[in-house]
Amino acid sequence: MRFFLSRLIYPFLLPNGLLFAAAVLGLSVAPQFPPLAPYLSVFPAAVLGVGLILGWRFNSTRLIFALLLLAMADALLGLRGAAAPFVHNALACALPLNLLGVALLAERGLVNRRGALVLGVLLTQLAAGAWLAARPMIRATAWLESDFVHLPFLDRLPLAQPALAAFALALLVLAFRFYRNPAPLEGGFLWALLAMPIALTSVPSPTLHLAAAGFILVVGVIENSHAMAYRDDLTGLPGRRALNEALARLGSRYTLAMVDIDHFKKFNDKHGHDVGDQVLRMVAGRLAAVTGGGKAFRYGGEEFSVIFPRKAVEEALPHLEALREAVAGARFHHRGKDRPKKKPARPRPSPPREKTLSVTISIGAAEKTGQRGASSQVLKAADQALYRAKKAGRNQVCD
Ligand code: GH3
Ligand code: MG
Ligand code: MG
Repeated sequence: MRFFLSRLIYPFLLPNGLLFAAAVLGLSVAPQFPPLAPYLSVFPAAVLGVGLILGWRFNSTRLIFALLLLAMADALLGLRGAAAPFVHNALACALPLNLLGVALLAERGLVNRRGALVLGVLLTQLAAGAWLAARPMIRATAWLESDFVHLPFLDRLPLAQPALAAFALALLVLAFRFYRNPAPLEGGFLWALLAMPIALTSVPSPTLHLAAAGFILVVGVIENSHAMAYRDDLTGLPGRRALNEALARLGSRYTLAMVDIDHFKKFNDKHGHDVGDQVLRMVAGRLAAVTGGGKAFRYGGEEFSVIFPRKAVEEALPHLEALREAVAGARFHHRGKDRPKKKPARPRPSPPREKTLSVTISIGAAEKTGQRGASSQVLKAADQALYRAKKAGRNQVCD
């Protein structure tokens, strides 16, 4: 449950969910406060401007396309005239699907063929919307209001069933993606999608709600970059910068452990760098699950750190011993690089079998004491303990 909360629920709710709630609440009461009007009127343009610059500087083409999509939707929803309801219905279907399409794009830059294609698809839809508004195609667009099923509860919703189906599909796919990768921007796309029905049914104008959706995405990109600076890409553990900040925040009592993989160089030399990376991930997985309130970090290379806030070294040792055993007891499977350099004249009788490797770690632990005032001194003491563990034959914990 703790894992579920910290992996999915918190990243989903903070800060995007909070922003969403603030936007919905704020935009429903703001019109009653006339002094706010000038700020609200510049909000959409500010989000668009800042978002486009951030998307360009942070290489997030998804943010750029999403903001353009929201701006185009706003322009189409602002059209007046006899055909406006049809444009609205068409947009209610197209907007969630387009947002889903943008969210699924891989970040591959803007100025290339793929970028031109995506822009072309968006502009074609904008042109089609404007064309529809000029010549109401009442017959052709009637299906946008049709009912697939007869459920009184669906009839009461302000959107027609095709739009609801498009929204449900996008919601399902984006929720699954967030489950697989709970990154801030993935959560941002989910919340931006949730803002769409509110924008589409908001009276008098959807502009502010669409801008709020854009703002959530802008914050998502900033949060993504922030997370990247603190998280190690290969292992998913927090990195050195996060460790330094955590150490600075710790109180006067804690234990710090340095963990190093034994003979890791040989692994790399014998089985290749890819297998080395897999070993790092496997060890990181065990470290992330360390018991006793320990928090693991990737210190660098094949070295990790674990901090135990408010714990004396004797209290931390059993958990470190359990960690050492968990790694030593794990069977690590890999394909190996035993493929022949030259193509064999005859095919092999059987495919290469999976190999199992065993990995061990050495651990050095040190407690913060009166003599070790600075965290760098605790770290040095833990490093010395690690050196002793290596000297004593590896696969052990020393303090
Ligand atoms: P010891 O038991 O004394 O710790 O021996 P060792 O071979 O583990 O020690 P050493 O520190 O000499 O080797 C560390 C190696 O880790 C060197 C480097 O090639 C490798 N390494 C560092 N970072 C990475 C990485 O991100 N991926 C892979 N595959 N290898 C890495
Ligand atoms: Mg090392
Ligand atoms: Mg090593």
